[in-house]
Amino acid sequence: MTIVDTPERRQLRELTRAFVTREVLPHLDEWERAGEVPRDLHATAAKIGLLGVGFPESVGGSGGDLLDSIVVTEEIIRSGGSSGLVAALFTHGIALPHIVAACGDKAGSAAAGPQHLIDRYVRPTLAGTMIGALAITEPDGGSDVAGIRTCARRDGDHYVVNGSKTYITSGVRADFVTTAVCADFPGSGTLSLLVIEKGTPGFTVGRRLEKLGWHCSDTAELSFTDVRVPVANRIGPEDTGFLAIMQQFAAERLSLATQAYATAQRCVELAVKWCRERSTFGQPLASRQLIRHRLAELHTRAEAARAYVHDVAVRVAAKQPVVTEVAMAKNVAVAACDHVVDAALQLHGGFGYLRDAEVERHYRDARILSIGGGTTEILNEIIAKGMGL
Ligand SMILES: Cc1cc2nc3c(=O)[nH]c(=O)nc-3n(C[C@H](O)[C@H](O)[C@H](O)COP(=O)(O)OP(=O)(O)OC[C@H]3O[C@@H](n4cnc5c(N)ncnc54)[C@H](O)[C@@H]3O)c2cc1C
Repeated sequence: MTIVDTPERRQLRELTRAFVTREVLPHLDEWERAGEVPRDLHATAAKIGLLGVGFPESVGGSGGDLLDSIVVTEEIIRSGGSSGLVAALFTHGIALPHIVAACGDKAGSAAAGPQHLIDRYVRPTLAGTMIGALAITEPDGGSDVAGIRTCARRDGDHYVVNGSKTYITSGVRADFVTTAVCADFPGSGTLSLLVIEKGTPGFTVGRRLEKLGWHCSDTAELSFTDVRVPVANRIGPEDTGFLAIMQQFAAERLSLATQAYATAQRCVELAVKWCRERSTFGQPLASRQLIRHRLAELHTRAEAARAYVHDVAVRVAAKQPVVTEVAMAKNVAVAACDHVVDAALQLHGGFGYLRDAEVERHYRDARILSIGGGTTEILNEIIAKGMGL
């Protein structure tokens, strides 16, 4: 099964492509140097309905589902954007779903539940006037989600939060952070999710972390010292945080899988263009059988990854139980991407190693895709369990 290209989705692709061409490409290098994307980009994307794709209108979104979000992600990268840009501009894709799910179905009506979380955080974020982040990972470890040590002790109508988080995407700019905390003792595994606002006493944003890639996406360390968070800012019932995190992992993993195959597709395009234009020993590179077969093989890998990710995404959208398949889809797409970015850079020769080359950015950006949202090794563990091992 593939994601059907309906007339609405073709329009969505055109809208995304026009947005990237007009609003992103002229500035992307500058944002990469600045280490972040400007806040007004969020407002611009919201205004044309792009930011809210995949969120119901009842919470301020533009409607559409997971498959529409995949179309947007794919098109951003295919039209010259990057996975770093997707991470920075669409951080709400990981920061908001737990809140929306706790208030109803993400694709449905979202009527019940703590409406004030929707009004205070979800609507302004989808309108592009607030930025949210998701904080699970801690300095002591990220893969072992149940081992979280940031603790929230109940004190009347507040929680008192102590601990720290690291590698948090958009953490420098975020106005609020959907934060995983443990309820009992550090490492107890009884997790809850709290929305913690920037500016709350005791909540400090540490240094901006410098990285190999994703330069336009700010990444931060966060620390919490006796931070008083209203109980009303808890997402869902107490101790349901672990389940909520696991439930939302499917969408995050599919987004990362999409970023991976779309990066691979983009790099094949860049390599084909380069090999047509570049001549060595008196002939265009693309005229040599060795090079044409290399490009054919790269194209095949990228297209096969896309087809499998789409197939799994369609099954997730149909609410089929495909936890193992989601893990396989991410690993397949990331492996294809790693292979293709490396080969595409090689085909560019020395130019591929320069900051001026788009392929150089994809090569650096791609490296995180096998680490974020569950490492390849952790996903292999899920796959092995799915095999009954
Ligand atoms: C740029 C960037 C952005 C990020 N954004 C966010 C964000 O917004 N929010 C957030 O919460 N986190 C974020 N992360 C964190 C990311 O999710 C974690 O880095 C990831 O989950 C891995 O956790 P870790 O770094 O602690 O590695 P560890 O868990 O310490 O793992 C280290 C290595 O050991 C392997 N390993 C671990 N356990 C096992 C095992 N049982 N068997 C075999 N191998 C194992 C891992 O696969 C990995 O290779 C981000 C990270 C980066 C670099």
